[in-house]
Amino acid sequence: MKEIEKLITGFKRFQENYFGGDQELFGQLKLGQNPGAMVIACSDSRVDPAILLDSKPGDLFMVRNVANLVPPYERGAGLHGVSTALEFGVCVLGVEHVIVLGHSRCGGVRALMQGLPEGALGEFISGWVNIAARAKERVLEELPHATADKQCSACEEASILVSLENLLTFPWIRAKVERGALILHGWYFDIDSGELVAYDPIQGRFIAMM
Ligand SMILES: [Zn+2]
Repeated sequence: MKEIEKLITGFKRFQENYFGGDQELFGQLKLGQNPGAMVIACSDSRVDPAILLDSKPGDLFMVRNVANLVPPYERGAGLHGVSTALEFGVCVLGVEHVIVLGHSRCGGVRALMQGLPEGALGEFISGWVNIAARAKERVLEELPHATADKQCSACEEASILVSLENLLTFPWIRAKVERGALILHGWYFDIDSGELVAYDPIQGRFIAMM
């Protein structure tokens, strides 16, 4: 119960911060949302984008899933959670930036590289992380003799690029990117160093942002 009490106390602080005092942010937000950016982040409890980026309610439209993956554009059968969020964020809300935010020590990427973690049933995880199978192939080709940890780190970065490539398979995303109305970003948070780096398409690598 301790964990739940902590959450309820946290909600009380949230109420005080955003509904009372000087900062009645929800006085405005109840009328609608107008976020400037959409973030695709991992479900990992350590990498909450709102906390990492010190943002407030209303700032970020977000979708989180295991290994921060974007599947390719695909119509027809299936329930497409990420694609739905993209359609909502890009077409309805008109965000100007989509950020794929990866991170180090990602359990989802490790499952892609090394197989399922202990306790996994094998029902959903493998199929999902296989969205980034291309990233795994690239890493094994480029770093065949690196340690497993190095290969995982490289795959965490490479899978961000796969998600960026997949974003461009959505025709309405590609169209907006081509006319300069939408900018795609690949960011990577290193849990060990606390650094945030961004993919630079000109240099073809992730570089420090500040
Ligand atoms: Zn992760």
